[in-house]
Amino acid sequence: MRKLLITGGAGFIGANFISYILKNTNYEITNLDALTYAANLENVRKFEGSDRYHFVKCDIGNKKELELALTQKYYAIINFAAESHVDRSIANPYPFIHSNINGTLNLLEAVLAGKAYKMIQISTDEVYGSLKPNEPPFTEHSPLAPNNPYSASKAAADMLIRSYFKTHNLVLNITRSSNNFGPMQHNEKLIPKVITNCLNDEKIPLYGDGQDIRDWLYVEDHCRAIHLVLENGMPGEVYNIGGAQEKKNIEVIEMIFKKLGKEVVQILKVPDRKGHDRRYAIDSTKILNDLGWKPEVTFLDGLTRTCEWYCNKGNERK
Ligand code: NAD
Repeated sequence: MRKLLITGGAGFIGANFISYILKNTNYEITNLDALTYAANLENVRKFEGSDRYHFVKCDIGNKKELELALTQKYYAIINFAAESHVDRSIANPYPFIHSNINGTLNLLEAVLAGKAYKMIQISTDEVYGSLKPNEPPFTEHSPLAPNNPYSASKAAADMLIRSYFKTHNLVLNITRSSNNFGPMQHNEKLIPKVITNCLNDEKIPLYGDGQDIRDWLYVEDHCRAIHLVLENGMPGEVYNIGGAQEKKNIEVIEMIFKKLGKEVVQILKVPDRKGHDRRYAIDSTKILNDLGWKPEVTFLDGLTRTCEWYCNKGNERK
């Protein structure tokens, strides 16, 4: 049985990926997570009885701690662990440098030391910066132009991956996905915030004019893409993973109101985020041509599943 080390598996995408892998493969998984405010062990509680699942609390930004935690060899490390919220990176960038840059470097050193055959860095479309309304979506050749400390830390990590591939010829990949949505996401992010505020009859905070555009990718489609990169990715390659579903933030909010049957929901306009990127869109042609991946879940279907999950979670608490 091959072994995977999943970092950040108590967070949103990592937990969904663990679920996907346990269901669709026979890999054994070690979930290594520092359990920051963004983690939720409830996301992975259901795997605790499985002999294919193990949890280790560890901060990847702490080299000694990581070395002590890496007691065995893995087929691959998949690095989801990161500080992931842009607003927090503006308020205090230091944890982003620690986890996103030092953490990635420590994992690369572990691969160099022979602790894993392969590593996949889970990066983001935000490293490419912002698009104007009529510009074509980002490809893997678009220049890196991060506009906030979060995306800058992710871009720096991507450059470290590139450098370890070029210098040491390690088996490495980078994936850059668009905005994910789905079950188990932290309430600080747009879609869960709107759903939970709606369910609790609270006002919905909206940045600026609501016209910012994001490309939405259902998390399960993302997990399937990462699995393909794990099995068939060419060493050193970057793969963009987009949902091809661009939506203005205000449209997303209105679609959620409709799904939840809310007619009158109050929107609270809040001052725009500093340096707010206007539009992200991503061209996934390469992963389609090379690995045969394309998104399968439409925005509406994904939104239905996501709303159902948050509604059920609310019901469980009652
Ligand atoms: P998240 O914030 O929900 O979860 C991050 C997890 O990483 C948490 O469980 C946290 O405890 C853990 N973590 C943070 N610092 C750590 C450290 N130093 N050591 C060990 N664990 C640590 O994030 P997410 O939304 O699941 O994102 C996962 C990855 O995907 C991130 O790298 C993010 O940059 C990338 N990404 C996210 C999106 C998105 O829309 N959510 C889009 C593109 C890329």
